[in-house]
Amino acid sequence: MSLSDLTRSAVELAIAEYDEIGPERFLEKYGFAKARKYFLVIGNREYHSKAIAGAAHGYLPGRHLPLRSIDFSGGENTVAHVLGNLGFAVRSTEPKPRNPTWTRDELILALDFYMENPASPPGKTSSKIAKLSEDLNKLAVILGVSGDGQFRNPNGVYMKVMNFRRFDPTFATAGKSGLSHGGREEELVWREFSQTPDLLRSVATAIRAAINGETLHTSPPDFDYIEEAEEGRLLTVLHQRRERNRKLVEARKQKALDETRELRCEACDLSFADRYGPHGDGFIEVHHLRPLHTLREGDKTAVSDLALVCANCHRMIHRRKPWLSVTQLRMLLNQRPTAARPETC
Ligand SMILES: [Zn+2]
Ligand SMILES: [Zn+2]
Repeated sequence: MSLSDLTRSAVELAIAEYDEIGPERFLEKYGFAKARKYFLVIGNREYHSKAIAGAAHGYLPGRHLPLRSIDFSGGENTVAHVLGNLGFAVRSTEPKPRNPTWTRDELILALDFYMENPASPPGKTSSKIAKLSEDLNKLAVILGVSGDGQFRNPNGVYMKVMNFRRFDPTFATAGKSGLSHGGREEELVWREFSQTPDLLRSVATAIRAAINGETLHTSPPDFDYIEEAEEGRLLTVLHQRRERNRKLVEARKQKALDETRELRCEACDLSFADRYGPHGDGFIEVHHLRPLHTLREGDKTAVSDLALVCANCHRMIHRRKPWLSVTQLRMLLNQRPTAARPETC
């Protein structure tokens, strides 16, 4: 007893019965509620798809009974799918899933593109727009974002680039306004980067290098404990990965042990061995110090690039963008004398 047994002729027989007795009686006879989401469409007539499928089961040759409503789900993956496979048109009232909103990384790349020639950026059909579209599609794959066939196509990418015009005083004063509205993130990226073209260029270059880096087969980012950096998601993932490189972490710890014979948080002085006894011995996290945009995929991390931090301080560093430096966190703790004492938990 399964929907996948249905045949086209069984469905046609159910449709014929539906036409004959009308929707109300049909639904009542088979015990179905009105469809809300999926309708089988024939010409200009629409049928409650789940009820049709259930009734059609009773029309299969042999000893088949109609299926009841509770026997199967009416969703996209079942009824709509089966009817679609039998060659029927199914209309969904669900709004089509929209392509995901632009991430910070994407907006940084788009702004970098725009800033190169705000007066006359390369057109929709230019190879440069095609390359940007291609990079954005690769980025989506790396970050596990999916969209439909239109996802970041050259047309959409061009529109997004031109959207920056509405923030650009050069064009606003000339009475030109940009196309449609974008998200708040778009404005933030404009405000943060439009006045610092060199920084924008290096961040965008670092992102592009990471996108096209061959070794970037990353596990999904762990954004529970880290806030995405100003430089976007992809470079954040790289930062996180550098901090989790076991060999380097061990080398950094060994350096501290050689020099001071202990592992202490550089922000709050906590030593896990002091705090937790033998259980905490040898534990500390590391934070990678170099600005994200100065790093390239494949760059070697030096032991001196890593700071020792306790788990709490590390989370506080990454809690908001812009991330705090270790010194900033240390100062923050010093302004709060009671909280700075590691022996209070
Ligand atoms: Zn700490
Ligand atoms: Zn860190």
